[in-house]
Order: sequence, then C-alpha cells, then structure tokens
Amino acid sequence: MCGIVGYVGHRNCADVLVDALTKLEYRGYDSAGIAVFEKEEIKVCKSKGRLANLTQKMETEGKPNGVAGIGHTRWATHGEPSDLNSHPHSGDRVTIVHNGIIENYKRLKEFLISEGKEFKSETDTEVAAQLLDFYYRGDPVEAIVQTMHELEGSFALGIVFADFPDIVFAVRCESPLIVGVGENESFIASDVPAIIQYTKDYYLLEHDEIAVLTPYGTKIYDTHYNKLEKELKTADWDVDAIGKQGYAHFMLKEIHEQPEAIRKTIAPRITDGLPDLAECNITLDYLRSLDRIFIVACGTAMHAGIVGKYVMEKIARVPVIVDIASEFRYRDPILSEKDLVIIISQSGETADSKAAMELAQQRGAKTLAIVNAMGSSIARGADMLIYTHAGPEIAVASTKAYMVQIAVMYLFSFQLALAKGKISEDECRTLVKQLEETPDKIAEILEHKESTQQIAASLVAADSLLYIGRGLDYALSMEGSLKLKEISYIHSESYAAGELKHGTISLITEQMPVIAIATQQDLFDKTVSNIKEVKARGACVTLVCTEKHSVEEGVADFRFNLPEFYDLLMPMLAVVPLQLIAYYTSVLRGNDVDKPRNLAKSVTVE
Ligand code: GLU
Repeated sequence: MCGIVGYVGHRNCADVLVDALTKLEYRGYDSAGIAVFEKEEIKVCKSKGRLANLTQKMETEGKPNGVAGIGHTRWATHGEPSDLNSHPHSGDRVTIVHNGIIENYKRLKEFLISEGKEFKSETDTEVAAQLLDFYYRGDPVEAIVQTMHELEGSFALGIVFADFPDIVFAVRCESPLIVGVGENESFIASDVPAIIQYTKDYYLLEHDEIAVLTPYGTKIYDTHYNKLEKELKTADWDVDAIGKQGYAHFMLKEIHEQPEAIRKTIAPRITDGLPDLAECNITLDYLRSLDRIFIVACGTAMHAGIVGKYVMEKIARVPVIVDIASEFRYRDPILSEKDLVIIISQSGETADSKAAMELAQQRGAKTLAIVNAMGSSIARGADMLIYTHAGPEIAVASTKAYMVQIAVMYLFSFQLALAKGKISEDECRTLVKQLEETPDKIAEILEHKESTQQIAASLVAADSLLYIGRGLDYALSMEGSLKLKEISYIHSESYAAGELKHGTISLITEQMPVIAIATQQDLFDKTVSNIKEVKARGACVTLVCTEKHSVEEGVADFRFNLPEFYDLLMPMLAVVPLQLIAYYTSVLRGNDVDKPRNLAKSVTVE
C-alpha cells in the first residue's frame, strides 16, 4: 500500500522521483508529493489526487531543482485525502514519507504536543516526523534508532534531514522497502518497478533495518547501530514488463499475459510428466502425513483458495478449510502439527496473511506460501514456498496473478492426490498433461474476446447483478463478481445457484442481470433449471458454458461459449470471459480501469 521512493545521485531528482512514482501509483493514488534538496534547503511540493496533479502543480509553481530527495503516493489511512494530509510531512529539521500505519500515534501525539510540538495534518505520519525531530541531536541514525524503539505498527519511512543535504535515510519496519544501487546514484522504493529503468541491483531491507544512502554507496544498520553486510540482489524483470506495450490498460495486457504466466509457473514444477515440488520443500512423505489443510488469504487470492478447496477435496479427499486472513488471525483457530496452512498472496506482503502465517507457525502447523513477489516477507517466512511466475502485475484488479495461483492449486492437488494414493501415476500424468493444455485454450478464448463487449454493454446501466453457478462454477463466480465490483463499481454478489431460492431470488427483477456459469457436465441441467427460475422473473441472463452444451431458445439472452475442455480445469478457462466482462464494463462506464476508486495493490495494513 502506498509507494515511497527516494533518490541521491546526479540526475534531476524531481524527475526521477516522479518517474519512479508513476511506476508505483498502483499502490495508492489519493495524493502525491516530493521533497527535494535545493542546495541546502528542503523544498516540498505535494498535491491531493493523482500524480498528474502534482506534475501540473510543479509546472505552474516550479519544480524543485536538486539531486537528492524523497517522494510518495498515498493510500490514506489516517485523515482524508487532502493537500494538507499529503506526504511528505515535516518537523523542524526532518521531512519524511511513510508507508503503513503508526498504531500508537495518538499517545505519541499527545506526548509531543505536551512537549510543545505543533501539528498541521491528521496523519499518523506527522507524528513520526515530529518524533524524529524530538530525538534529533545532530546524529540522524541515532534519532532514527530512538524513534524506531517508540513507534508501533508496520511502516517504512524515507527521511531527509535538513542538516544533511544529499543524503537520504530509510527505515523498514514490516512494510517493504528496497535500496537500489546504481552508478554514483542510490534509490529507495517500495517495489522493484520504480527503479528498474535505472538499475536492477538492489538490497532488500529486512525488518528493523536502517539505510543511509549517498551517491557513492549505501550503509545499512540494525537498530543497535551495527553496520550490516547485505547480499546484493538482481531483479530479473525486464523494463518492458512494466510498460503497457500497446494495450489500452495494464489490466487488458495482463489478461493477455495469462497463457505465458501459466507456462512459466508450471513448467519448472513438472518432471517426467509428474508434479515435482521437491524444490519447494514439499515431499510426498510430508503430503502423505497431512490430515487437514487450511487455505488462508485475502480478496482474489482467497478466491483462488476456494477453487483450490474444491479441487483438493475432489481428487485428493483431504478436508480443506478456506479462511479470510483477517478473520482467521483473530478467531483463535484450532490447529495442530498435522495441519498445513497455505497462504496465498500476490505481493507476499499482505499484512493479514502474513500475521495469519505467523499465528499458524506459533501453533505448530506447517505453512506453505504461494507468492508472486520474490523475496517478500511471506515468501521468506514460510516453511515451504511455491513462487508463481506471473511477473509484475500493475493493474490493481488482479487477473494473471489469480490465474497462476489456481494453476498452482491444481498442481499441488495432483501431487497431494498422488501422495494420498487417490490417483495412480498414470492418472496424475494425464491430469498434468491436461493442465499443460490450458495456456493454448486460453489463447483461443482471447482471440474472440470482443464478444464480451456486447455482454458488458448489457450490464453497464445496472445497479446490481448476480453471478450464479454450482460446484467449481460457484467457486469461480466469486472471483468474477469481485472483479466486476472492483473496477465497474456495480454491486454484485456470487451465489450458489441452488441457494438462490432460499432468499436471494426476491431481488430478481428486470433490472437485475444474472451471469450464470455452467461448465460442469454433472451439474449443467441443475444450473439451467436455476437459470430458468431467474429468467421467469425477468432477469437478463448471460450464460457462460462450453460450445457443446445445448440449451433451449430463450434460456439466455447472451451466451459466451468456451472451448470444450476437461470439467476439472474449467475454472481456468471460464475466468477469462469474466475478467473481460468486468474490464469492458469498467471501460464503458468511463472508469479508471487500472486504478479503481479507493483501492490499492499490495495491502500492507490491517
Ligand atoms: N498512514 C499514512 C497516511 O494515512 C500513510 C498511508 C500510506 O501508506 O499511504 O497518510
């Protein structure tokens, strides 16, 4: 959540900061601001709203001119999005940008006020700025160390001290932060895309580490002021991966990248036609010993877990409980050493998922992380780890990350079923082969993506709609519904088709469109009966099924045909038209598809 950046070097700092913030805007876009040393003086420029507002402001009011500074794009937690609450925030000699939440800010604010400090904003951030100022006696690192001992919560800070022009300081406490290492220049950033066009070399700051950046290098300290030696990492993303490459939006580009993302994710985990997760520290012996699985995640990743549950239970016959991370961590879950807790997170920094993982470990359960971002906190903390290889996902609404999460769910389920003796090696090979066919099938669907535009046009004026399905189709419909809500701002719900008449059918009118997913052969007729029930009450129905399914005239107003495929793997195909329907509905409503209202990617706060 929120993006912070910093730069010291030889380039025009304001330009570098704005450019880096552009790459991080998916993390928050309530306001943007920078602070740059103009000679000895720190010049701050900030503005409510998108980064474009800041650049416009700098055009009219003048751009700070210097070679060192910090920048921020905000996702407000404390105080409304306003010019005043925008970062950077300053004390007398200190200016900071902040990602995260200072949980004990109230108590600290009262203390600082009693010490004569005055506050301008409603943010928790300003408390950190004033506290740094309070402890500052000439040695910035000492002030930072003392401040870190006082602050509670999860946060990352970029800091400049008026007495130290051309030095940028940074701190990581839970919230992610990297230090980029260039030639005679150094960077800080919340995520790799911000700096990749300048350098691919970076240090990953760990919890409770302090960085001191100069053009000629970076020193990193722990909270006892001990200097640390860190391993220099190299990002394997290329610069093109973070551009739109001719697509109107990142979301559309990322939908199209799904076939490749699946190939990259599953290929390294298949040996001799069988799943091979040994490198991820997952052995057949361990899987054999499992009693129960929890899948704990948030949002889209949790929906991937629900598909995983259906698949695992169906073929491996192991009970699976799917939990929302923010509930799991506070509901005193019953866990034992024989339970496996799977944590799914694109960013690997999702605060609730990370806390859920730590709780599971404290209670003796083993944890498996399914994560896209290399070296992220969840990836480093888990007992077992499967990286998905979606590459950078910039659109806030997740598509390709979900796709590879479910691809991993399948691969893992096949391995589990084999370990548990529920399928033979031959059966397992067949399933793996079928999974390997999914990228081509998805590419086929994308070739006739335009037909989803007509469906989107039928939804554009709706206030609310329903997604219905049974079995795997129901599991999948949850993600379809969330996608639509996120980017079109139309209320929607997903419902088990058979459950509708137990209450929710009362909502059906001509104004309530229904999207029915019916890809499962054994449940098809039952779902069609449910469709008829809503149709009889006036709903405009879109049916997503395979081309082989025949339905009577008049059952559906729109139909999207998927190619014929294996029932078990249908969610990987059926999600594609649902993503496209959400995408085109958002476009037709004139929304900012990649940066939807109130949302941000990588939710690093509770
Ligand atoms: N809590 C801070 C604020 O509300 C920082 C939020 C962020 O991470 O953008 O300003």
